[in-house]
Amino acid sequence: MIKDLEAKLGSRIITPDHEAYDEKRKVWNGAIDRKPYAIVVCDTEEDVAAAVKLATEKNLNIAIRGGGHHVAGTAVCDDGLMIDLSEMRKVEVDPEKKIAFVEGGATLADIDKATQNFELATPTGTVSETGVAGLALSGGMGYLRGKYGLTCDNIVGAHVVTSKGELLEVSETQHSDLFWAIRGGGGNFGIVTKFMFQLHKVGPAVLALDVMYDYKDAKAILLQAQEYLKQAPDEVSFNITAAELPPVPFLPEALHHKKVVMLTGMYAGEPEQGEKVIEQLRQMAEPLADHTGIIPYVELQSKLDAMVPDSVPVYGTSLYFKELDEKTIDAVLGKIDSAPAPTALVQLWALGGQMNKIPVDATPFAVRDASFILLVDMMAMGVDEKICEKWVESLYQGLLPYSHNKASYLNGIGLSENVTKTAYAVNYDRLVAVKKNYDPGNVFRFNHNIDPTK
Ligand SMILES: Cc1cc2nc3c(=O)[nH]c(=O)nc-3n(C[C@H](O)[C@H](O)[C@H](O)COP(=O)(O)OP(=O)(O)OC[C@H]3O[C@@H](n4cnc5c(N)ncnc54)[C@H](O)[C@@H]3O)c2cc1C
Repeated sequence: MIKDLEAKLGSRIITPDHEAYDEKRKVWNGAIDRKPYAIVVCDTEEDVAAAVKLATEKNLNIAIRGGGHHVAGTAVCDDGLMIDLSEMRKVEVDPEKKIAFVEGGATLADIDKATQNFELATPTGTVSETGVAGLALSGGMGYLRGKYGLTCDNIVGAHVVTSKGELLEVSETQHSDLFWAIRGGGGNFGIVTKFMFQLHKVGPAVLALDVMYDYKDAKAILLQAQEYLKQAPDEVSFNITAAELPPVPFLPEALHHKKVVMLTGMYAGEPEQGEKVIEQLRQMAEPLADHTGIIPYVELQSKLDAMVPDSVPVYGTSLYFKELDEKTIDAVLGKIDSAPAPTALVQLWALGGQMNKIPVDATPFAVRDASFILLVDMMAMGVDEKICEKWVESLYQGLLPYSHNKASYLNGIGLSENVTKTAYAVNYDRLVAVKKNYDPGNVFRFNHNIDPTK
């Protein structure tokens, strides 16, 4: 069978005896150790189509690798064919039409670098090494969400390789059902080899919020953040992160092992006008440090990279909240206080503005009325992985009663049928109908799966 693969796909087949096999099967989450039958490192859309055809002919499972950052490690599977797009990273910009043409293996850094040449950007995420494909196909939240919506809201077209190995161009007017489905429905419908994203005028310098408070003030800060959000203009998007600072040389010794609450964010308008607007976020308690200032957009977009190192075993979960009231805040802080190690990263991101103005059925992304999203990453460093996994599960179960419709963000949680259905809510049945049309055999199933038979 390998001979068939090589004949059709040339030399870019990596099998277990290849020296690059262990490096290529690695994903961001170090807890994942899966061994595919082979890895196809794709250079072109034709490679992707040939790989899909061959996998279906030979009855091999398929895993799709974009940037390899999903916490569930779904970019790699045991025994099947890993279709790796990570070397397809070209980004082209049409500054007149304000569209970016982005290959399916690009990272957020690739996009920002190319689009900022024209002082343009599309909303993505907050860590530059993340792959855009997985992020965009299931949502995509970053510092432009308030002003310009989610990444999936900004997809204006795509090239998709279907389960039959056909390459389709999709847009509002071409295969419009498939176009609707890929704007939030994940990797269920085909492999996206190219995205077209809407661009907006951003930067090159932006006002970046970056203030650090003592964790003892967490409750007061969260209560104030909820109030602030109710009147915040769309230009402001901000995230609240609770963490214990590591004893690293670039931090002053007084901050080593200190539990803190960090507010990071951006004002997506004229930086000088934003200073007054975000002032309140900088005065919610006595700050330990405040590095808020006007910086290049690309610098803001990579500022958090060091906080989320590669290859560490991670257990993650997510839930939405309608309102951060006292009971919810107490429950969240209680869970943070029970973390088994200082390597828990617990984030609450404020949601609003444009991302919540889009009608629920305009895209598959159904949670358009929450005010905060909880994102938890427990890094198993110096602590048993099983203990971390158990804590994350107990946090999820414990906070479920306080959550908004029991819904989670699919880009931040492991695979579960229930979680998938709850996230898609009223859009689930329509997704099943599109899945039946384009992938009736469920070829693309190693994901938050939409089962065509249900
Ligand atoms: C360090 C870190 C920071 C993050 N920050 C943010 C953030 O700020 N905002 C946010 O919204 N999310 C964030 N995330 C979550 C992120 O959105 C998901 O991890 C997302 O899956 C990353 O996409 P990827 O292409 O790197 O993932 P991969 O693991 O490569 O892919 C995940 C899944 O997406 C599908 N897929 C990938 N590529 C394709 C393709 N070309 N065609 C079809 N399907 C495909 C497949 O089903 C695959 O299993 C972060 C994650 C990490 C680890």
